[in-house]
Amino acid sequence: MSNVITAREAEELLRKGEQPPAGAILTPSARDVFSGHGKPAFKGSATAAGAKKSTQPSVPDYEFRWKPGTDAKTPAELERFFNSPAIQVLKERICDMGRRLWQREYTDGNGGNITIRVGDNLALCTPTLICKGFMKPEDMCLVDLDGNQLAGTRLRTSEAKTHFGIMKRQPAAKACVHAHPPHATAFAIANVDIPSCLITEAEVFLGKIGVAKYQTPGTPANADEVGEVGKHHQAVLMQNHGVIVWGKDVEDAYWKMENIDSYCRTVWIAAGLGGGLHRFTGGQAKELINLRQKLGMPDPRAGLKECELCDSAEFRPGTTAPAQNQDSTPADPQIEAVVQQVTEQIMKALAAK
Ligand SMILES: [Zn+2]
Repeated sequence: MSNVITAREAEELLRKGEQPPAGAILTPSARDVFSGHGKPAFKGSATAAGAKKSTQPSVPDYEFRWKPGTDAKTPAELERFFNSPAIQVLKERICDMGRRLWQREYTDGNGGNITIRVGDNLALCTPTLICKGFMKPEDMCLVDLDGNQLAGTRLRTSEAKTHFGIMKRQPAAKACVHAHPPHATAFAIANVDIPSCLITEAEVFLGKIGVAKYQTPGTPANADEVGEVGKHHQAVLMQNHGVIVWGKDVEDAYWKMENIDSYCRTVWIAAGLGGGLHRFTGGQAKELINLRQKLGMPDPRAGLKECELCDSAEFRPGTTAPAQNQDSTPADPQIEAVVQQVTEQIMKALAAK
């Protein structure tokens, strides 16, 4: 019998006025059920009921850790691992994050995907062609970091390989979330750099936002491009596509998706107020980058001088975008002709004087 307590079972226990049995593992939703009813909050992903409550305040740690060189290998080992209580907890967390993505309209249709690294060469991922708002733990897939499916009844997403482009280059990336949040994606399709030095939290939790050049989704070229950018940036804008973010656990990654879309939305609203954008200074940005590094998050700006930090002064939303796109609209031939005619008339008038 499984010793994982789901939210439904937790509600049943609460109804009966009972506590979870000793040694039981609570899924995040089950923990919410207990804490929401004024019962003791259960800390960590595998806290046994009845365990001595720590008197020290702490931050819950949801990062999945494994012993290097111990990946499940045989089909039987893989199946056992895939159905273990620890993996069941992660499957539920992926479903929770999927629901939050969909509720905030960061995904539409079957868009977006989520991965969690669970071994040297193992990862959980969402299946292809599924709405992220209504996934069930049994929909999840187990794959290796080349995208070969090892367990699960649904076919894995082809975009998982893009996530692994980052994970293979950046060991701190234990989970990735990809979605198409409208405000950040708008910057990605308008080819407008997201300005920096505007909101303190964005500098600390997002860091410098990377931009990955357009490549066809799901291709090795896309995995390489996103992987190279994602190695140094926790939030990556994928040109003409969307956003991919990474973190130490799946919620940590998911938070960055909220951060980047809220940031882009706020910048967009602020730019429309007409008063210009007030930036903090390079020196102030440096302090925030130092704070980010203290929290253990990488930032490619760490070695830059203060004067090089707030570099997006050319941002002019709603009027002109930076001229980065070489394929910009060609000049209108009719307007060109009128300009030509006017120029000729002026030249004639000047010559007649
Ligand atoms: Zn996508």
